[in-house]
Amino acid sequence: MPDILLLILLVVAILIGYVLGRYSVKRADRHESSPVSKDYFVGLNYLLNEQPDEAIETFIGALDINSDTVDTYLALGSLFCKRGEVERSIRVHQDLLARPSLTTAQSIKVQLALAKDYMTAGLLDRAEAMLTDLIGHSHEFKEEALQLLLKIYEQEKEWQKAIDVAESLRRNQDFSYYKTLAFYYCEQAEGYLNSNDRVSARRYIKSAFGRDKNCVRASLLLGRMEYEEGGYRDAVRALERIAKQDIRYIPLSIPLLERSYNNMPNFKGLGAYLAKCLNEKPGSAVILAMTRLLEADRGEQYAIGFLTEQLCKRPTLSGLNKLIELQQLLGRADKEDSFHLFQELTKKMLALKPVFTCSSCGFTSKEMYWQCPGCREWGTVAPIEGIEGE
Ligand SMILES: [Zn+2]
Repeated sequence: MPDILLLILLVVAILIGYVLGRYSVKRADRHESSPVSKDYFVGLNYLLNEQPDEAIETFIGALDINSDTVDTYLALGSLFCKRGEVERSIRVHQDLLARPSLTTAQSIKVQLALAKDYMTAGLLDRAEAMLTDLIGHSHEFKEEALQLLLKIYEQEKEWQKAIDVAESLRRNQDFSYYKTLAFYYCEQAEGYLNSNDRVSARRYIKSAFGRDKNCVRASLLLGRMEYEEGGYRDAVRALERIAKQDIRYIPLSIPLLERSYNNMPNFKGLGAYLAKCLNEKPGSAVILAMTRLLEADRGEQYAIGFLTEQLCKRPTLSGLNKLIELQQLLGRADKEDSFHLFQELTKKMLALKPVFTCSSCGFTSKEMYWQCPGCREWGTVAPIEGIEGE
């Protein structure tokens, strides 16, 4: 059992705290007997026989909790929590909290630990109540309590509450909350957009830009809103901003950008924009969009020439797939020949490959997530680059 060494260390720490506690009492009271009780040896026996559960029960039951052992008990609780034994962790912390001898600072530490237990156990309402109460009473641990509260609101998708908490953390000069705040505002904006409350959606998108002017998600939402309202030129303006904000996310804007341009047949500019993107960061989404544009404007033959040239510089599966499709359109590859088999193969390979990855934890997915489901970080998931991706 890998935890056994840690448990032994904890028990030794409890013993030291216990002996110190008894020693100080002993000095005041000369009638005190031996500092180590019989139960301690019973517990130790359990531990040596690799029965840590029984050992822990005995130690908890036998030892006094005094100011010297509170931190050790907190560590013991958190060890239970990490081992997935949340109920046990809750019991240790509740036992601690019931002790009248705790100082205010110790009591707050225990309450924070208990709130974490509740969160792990999925008792979010209890955790929220405990943390809200703590915030009102403790200045020292207020920030930690607010950060935990933020995790609860994220889990519950209570975005307005998350905004309120993150705004108060931001006011404490913590600049790391700016980007996350922009995502919270976007979550709210998307909710309003889906329920067709466009005035509120626009207000929240504006707030997102207020916190992070390079918020790609806010540009995508603004582009979507303008498009849905028929403001194609404004949609283009919002979506083309992404090239300056974070060029990695251009692939997310391409489908809506193409549709916006298609709704304005007399408005040219897509080619120039794509050429600029291609120059700065060639990626398969931009290459394919350019190929489609050339195919429509100048025909398949011209598009094949462009795509072949790009694929020589930067081979990608999706580019190869498009090249075969164009060859078929020109009648150079019929359904029976090896071109068709090759296309089936590339399609199958693409279907199996993830499209997005998290730079923080390596999580991969076919879907785009603004908050990584693996590590819960915001804005770390982006399109995968390379032969099989962008
Ligand atoms: Zn991640």
